[in-house]
This record gives sequence, structure tokens and C-alpha cells, in this order.
Amino acid sequence: MNNEIPNVEHVIEEREDFSGEKVVPFLIFYPKNEEDIVKIINFALENKLSIIPWGYGTSLTGAVKCDKSCILIDMSKMNKILEINDVDWYVRVQPGVRLIDLFEELEKKGFMLPPDPASFFLCSVGGATSESSGGMKGVKYGSFREWVLALKVVLPTGEIIKVGEPLRKNRAGYDLTHLFVGSEGTLGVITEIWLRITPLPRRKIVTIVAWLKDFKSAGEAIIGLRKNRILPELSEYIDIDVIKALNKNLNAGLKESQGGMLIISVEEDLVNDVVKVLEGKTEEIKITKDDEAERIYSLRAQAAIAVKAESKTFFAEDIVVPISKLPYAIEELNSIAKKYNTKFYIISHIGDGNLHPNIVIEDPDIRQKVFEEIGRMAIDLGGSISGEHGIGTQKAKLMAEQILKHNGAKVLDLMYEIKKLIDPNDLMNPDKYVELAWKYSNSNNNYK
Ligand SMILES: Cc1cc2nc3c(=O)[nH]c(=O)nc-3n(C[C@H](O)[C@H](O)[C@H](O)COP(=O)(O)OP(=O)(O)OC[C@H]3O[C@@H](n4cnc5c(N)ncnc54)[C@H](O)[C@@H]3O)c2cc1C
Repeated sequence: MNNEIPNVEHVIEEREDFSGEKVVPFLIFYPKNEEDIVKIINFALENKLSIIPWGYGTSLTGAVKCDKSCILIDMSKMNKILEINDVDWYVRVQPGVRLIDLFEELEKKGFMLPPDPASFFLCSVGGATSESSGGMKGVKYGSFREWVLALKVVLPTGEIIKVGEPLRKNRAGYDLTHLFVGSEGTLGVITEIWLRITPLPRRKIVTIVAWLKDFKSAGEAIIGLRKNRILPELSEYIDIDVIKALNKNLNAGLKESQGGMLIISVEEDLVNDVVKVLEGKTEEIKITKDDEAERIYSLRAQAAIAVKAESKTFFAEDIVVPISKLPYAIEELNSIAKKYNTKFYIISHIGDGNLHPNIVIEDPDIRQKVFEEIGRMAIDLGGSISGEHGIGTQKAKLMAEQILKHNGAKVLDLMYEIKKLIDPNDLMNPDKYVELAWKYSNSNNNYK
């Protein structure tokens, strides 16, 4: 040890992230301000340790995986909502604020921040910003990327910068703000976040629940909505196995239809149009009352927890396919499931093509094979291997394949050059995300 441990609250502790990855850091610090973080960075640099920011560890991709060569910076003590501006329509928060607490405060003032990852009751605003998380409202409102206006960041060199402005429009320079959004803790520690907010909708929103004849009908229904120019507030899908897991583990009491359940929320005057699109595809349709809609929404948010209770191995896929290709992708998923004699527990933001099959195969080699086969199917269809969960270590190889196929080696090289420019000592979350994808692409010429 080259230096005394800085005078910042810390513990020695082992943790696990939500996906079950072991997190065994050298130390865990709880900074209270930026000065604390600068001290931790200097300590890490002097002792050749790396740094990983920790929100609440709900990452599903190994993004907070950490061993004795790393320090974890737990952001939970930087958890203040600093300002809700009801004229300029933004909120300024510290990163450790839990998303659910922010939602509740905004609602009291008649506002909302739409991106609502199903982990909103667990995760932090800093984590969701660093992952550019999406959620059920993504179909209409997009993911965190669309809502972040400005950030304060402690760089891996210990310098503190502010990027962006809390303005609706701002064209001053390269868009560095959105370089940090979705950067998975690899470029710096985010210490303050300005987010756009919007008034709660005034028109009545109605939720339609459709129990489908088969899974493919879900894809066809979404195409039907698009062709009829219907933009829902929310359009979600869970398959029969997820319904069964919810019934068994959360006492949900849901009807178990073979084709799963489609949940569509729209403004009241669009209900009949949606019902028309669903004609011939369902076993039953229900137009829910407000409290039933709330219950369905909450069950959908807890679906991953119900599936996790079913299986020790919960491996979340996050593929996105072009909406026009949904029925084809669904057929492909069905045939991959058949080939490996497994089921996928699909919990999908289907309205934006984000399919989320969850793999529960115990054998790690077969699981990885299936995971990659599904990812490559999405890449071949012109889709993406990740819509919102991010890359971490889990998808770095597939990310390299996607970028090399869709964008070219120069793009991956540029990404890696940016990482090296901002983090010359490779201090922040090393060997993950862009850095790991770049290493994969340069260690195996098959990718090119
Ligand atoms: C049950 C469940 C459901 C989920 N559903 C969804 C969903 O619907 N949509 C979706 O998009 N995601 C979903 N997720 C995953 C989602 O990625 C995480 O919930 C969230 O983005 C991470 O928040 P966290 O605070 O736990 O961050 P962590 O998991 O602790 O960290 C995530 C990443 O952010 C970095 N990070 C955290 N804080 C900072 C900071 N202040 N500065 C810099 N980097 C930082 C970390 O280093 C890490 O790389 C789900 C997860 C679970 C467990």
C-alpha cells in the first residue's frame, strides 16, 4: 500500500449483483461529495487499483463485477433531489437517488420522468443514466438517453466537469453529455444529473389486456398498430411461462393463455381502434378499470423477480429487432427454444421491438451457445444485441460482432480511442464494454 486510506467512510464487504455475479472488492467507499471521490481516485491511482461506481447493483450484464484489484464506489450516500424546476421543466439530482423516490416526488408536483425500467423500485438514477435504461414507456418516450440534459462528472484524472445545459435546445459543441449516458461507469463518476421532466398526461389512459392464441400474434398485433398509426403509451408482452411464474410466485391469479398476454395502454379515444387490430388474434380481451390496470402494470414490473424465483440461472437477453421483422424473430426464437429443448420466459417491451427472452439453462456452455445464437439472429435481422440493459462483460463479444457488421472496425477503434483519451490510466471499470469488445475484435480476425 503506497498511501493511507483516505478519510472517507468505507467498509470491507463482499456483494452480489442482481444476476448473481460475485463482487469481491478491495474496499467499498461511500463518498458524500465530489471531493471524496477525487481523494478515492488519487488513492486508486497511487495503488494501481481500478474503480467501479455502484448504484444499487441491479445490473444484469456483469457491469459491476469487481475483484480484489478494484475499489467499489457506492453512490448511495449522494442521494438528494436538489431541484425540481416547474418552469424550465427539469429536475437536478444526485446519482444515488432511487428512481422510485424521484418518480414519487415528481408525481406530487404533476410531473413525470417517463423511462421506467422494471427495476425502478430498486435502481438508482445514476445507474439508470449510466446504462441508459429504458422500460415500459419506452415505446412512446424512449430511454434515459432522451431525457438527460446535463451531467456533472468526476473524470478518471480527478478533474470535475459539467457537460450539457438544462435547456430544451443547446447546440454548443460536440454532444459530450450523451457520451457519458450509457457509458457504464467506464469514463468517470457521475455526481449530478439534470433530467428533462414532462407534465403527467391529462387525457385518460386506458389499458387493454389481450390473452393471445399464439406468440406470433403479438408481433402481428404490433405491426397492425403501426400500420394504423397508433402510438401506445405502453405495449408489453409476457409469455405463458412468465404468466405461470407470476401465478405461482406472486399469487397473480392471471388467466393462462397459450399465446401469452399483451398489455396495451392508449388514450381513451383509441381503444376501439386497438380492439379492431387485435381481432382474430385473441382468446379474450379485457378493457381494464384503473385499479386493475395498476395491478397489471405492477405485476409486469415484477415479472423478472417471479422468473428468478423459478430458476437459479436467470440470464436476461436484451435483443432489439426492427418492428417489421417481429413475427420472423418470434418464429426464430420458437425454433431455437425447440432445438435446445428449453423455454425462454419472454418479458418483452414488444412495442419497440425489445424482446427480452430470459435463458434459464443450467449448463453454462449450452447457455452461452443459446445466448449467442439469439444475439446473432438479432444482428442478422439488422437489430441490436442490447436495447437497454447494456453490455458489461456479458455482451462484449456480441457487441464487437454487431459493430463490425453494421458499422465497421473504424467505429469500434474510435470508441476505444475515446476511452483511452478520457481514461489514460484505464482506471474506470476496465476490461468491460467498449474496451472488452475492442479486445475481442482485435484478438480474432473472424470478426472482420
Ligand atoms: C428486476 C430487474 C428488472 C430490470 N428491468 C429493466 C428494464 O425494464 N429496463 C432496463 O433498461 N433495465 C432493466 N434492468 C437493468 C438495469 O440496467 C438496472 O436496473 C439499472 O440501470 C442499474 O441501476 P443500478 O443503480 O442498480 O446500477 P448498478 O447496477 O449498480 O450499475 C450499473 C452500471 O452503472 C454504473 N454506475 C452506477 N452509478 C454510476 C455513477 N454515479 N457514475 C458512473 N457510473 C455509474 C456502474 O459502474 C455500472 O456499470 C432490470 C434489472 C432488474 C434487476
